Amino acid sequence: MIPPKDCSGCGACVHICPVRAIEFVKDREGFYYPEIDCEKCVNCGACEKKCPILCPQGPKAVHTAAYAAQNRNEQARHCSSSGGVFSLLAEQVIRLGGIVIGCAMTKDCYGAEHQVITNEQGLSEIRGSKYLQSRADQVYPAVKEALQNGKRVLFSGTPCQVAGLHAYLANAKTENLITIDNICHGVPSPTVWERYVKHWESVKGSKVVSVQFRNKEKGWKTYSLVLSFENGETYKSICTADLYCRGFVGDYFLRRSCYDCHAKGEYHGADITLGDLWGIRHICKPMDDDGGTSLVLLNTAKGEALFHTINREMECQQVDFDEAIRHNPSYYQSSSQRVNRHCFMKHIQKKPIINLLDFYCGTRLTSRIKRKIMKFMATACRGDHL
Ligand SMILES: Cc1cc2nc3c(=O)[nH]c(=O)nc-3n(C[C@H](O)[C@H](O)[C@H](O)COP(=O)(O)OP(=O)(O)OC[C@H]3O[C@@H](n4cnc5c(N)ncnc54)[C@H](O)[C@@H]3O)c2cc1C
Ligand code: SF4
Ligand code: SF4
Ligand code: SF4
Repeated sequence: MIPPKDCSGCGACVHICPVRAIEFVKDREGFYYPEIDCEKCVNCGACEKKCPILCPQGPKAVHTAAYAAQNRNEQARHCSSSGGVFSLLAEQVIRLGGIVIGCAMTKDCYGAEHQVITNEQGLSEIRGSKYLQSRADQVYPAVKEALQNGKRVLFSGTPCQVAGLHAYLANAKTENLITIDNICHGVPSPTVWERYVKHWESVKGSKVVSVQFRNKEKGWKTYSLVLSFENGETYKSICTADLYCRGFVGDYFLRRSCYDCHAKGEYHGADITLGDLWGIRHICKPMDDDGGTSLVLLNTAKGEALFHTINREMECQQVDFDEAIRHNPSYYQSSSQRVNRHCFMKHIQKKPIINLLDFYCGTRLTSRIKRKIMKFMATACRGDHL
């Protein structure tokens, strides 16, 4: 089977196996990996033949056009990570009688999972980025069933999840399926996130009831992480100061496959790719209002057709593809693994997460001095000092 460092956790194999011999099991870093029950396995080989990493389908994204776009509904744009284009596409599919599948936080806010949404009110659950790996495979059978019943389906996820869905659907009829993926920095460990939420719950003495990873109160470029608690309190911090966000952006606790991603560049397999138009100041100055602008890449005729049905609901301007992605290296390049990632991950189950994050990612002078000393003494890996 596939080496764990390459497995993206798409979960296609779990549902492809005809005898249900594959279980999805969390490893000590908190990521799901397939495990085969050799007693049940009949050696049919389907899991390997259909795995999108072991048997890649080849390049898919042939760019017809790139756009800068903003949802004209300011409230929806404000609650979205970028320009709120996902919401417009999702609303359109629901208006056409279809269903939408995207990533939501679990009820306890400790994890993320893909959910099926059937009405516009439900879209708030899947709006906005969640910076931890979501479990998407559980909804693949619902996608297949909806397609078999002639329903239109919009599926949104990371590029590897879209690849997983396509692998699972294989020979099914997919003319009613439209897929959206995102420009992807990588997905953080669900265990690090869970322990971080629990840390703040103990500080505030109350349960977290909602999470916003990309709050725009201070602007799109200076976004904040906001945790809301049952007792009415909040924790708010701009991303550059929050320890979890610093660890995510600093690449300390991404899934191992994200450091050598197989779904970058022309290997994006969705009809539409969405991202942040970070280069807006250079590319499209008149739209640079710091409220959030989406970079929309139309990869197929199907994606192009859906996108143009929402023309009247957005501010939109065609931009140069090469220029746009030049400011967004995650489109074509994997994040770099930190040399001390394994030291960090080794301790996430046992050491207080806040101390670990502070030691590796903290900006305080004491943290920086400690890092320097540990580097000098080459004992950082032991983590005994935390
Ligand atoms: C983990 C992650 C890393 C990203 N990295 C980059 C990057 O490096 N550069 C860049 O330009 N853009 C990146 N994006 C994409 C960007 O943040 C926006 O999601 C995208 O531009 C769409 O924004 P929107 O305003 O149109 O809609 P939004 O409403 O903000 O987008 C929500 C959509 O994102 C999906 N989503 C949210 N969280 C997850 C998750 N954990 N797993 C799978 N799908 C999820 C939802 O299903 C929903 O469809 C990343 C997104 C995620 C989730
Ligand atoms: S199908 Fe997906 S989950 Fe299964 S081994 Fe391949 S990448 Fe991993
Ligand atoms: S070889 Fe066939 S039976 Fe065995 S785990 Fe893979 S899909 Fe299942
Ligand atoms: S970086 Fe690649 S492997 Fe990691 S979540 Fe994104 S698409 Fe999947």
